[in-house]
Amino acid sequence: MQDPIDLLRTSLEEQFQRSTDQLAELTVRSRQRSRGGYDHDTLAALIASARQAVSDTAHALRRMAEGSYGSCERCTADIALQRLEILPHARFCVPCQRRQTG
Ligand SMILES: [Zn+2]
Repeated sequence: MQDPIDLLRTSLEEQFQRSTDQLAELTVRSRQRSRGGYDHDTLAALIASARQAVSDTAHALRRMAEGSYGSCERCTADIALQRLEILPHARFCVPCQRRQTG
């Protein structure tokens, strides 16, 4: 059986690549006069979310390299694997996330 962390790493790497490509493409569009057909606000929102995704996945991959992946950044409890499978870049366990977002 494959280590679940390996699967998560693969999915994070794919996500990172996709988000990076997307960000590059959106950046090119933002410099075009037509903005690729997007209005300014939509494009700005898409760029912001692609940038966030790049930073979230890069952060998770860095924590994996450091060996701290999978533990909550606030209380250091283990984050449930089911949660990581849904949200591989999760930084907090569920109770801390709830506290975080209020
Ligand atoms: Zn926590």
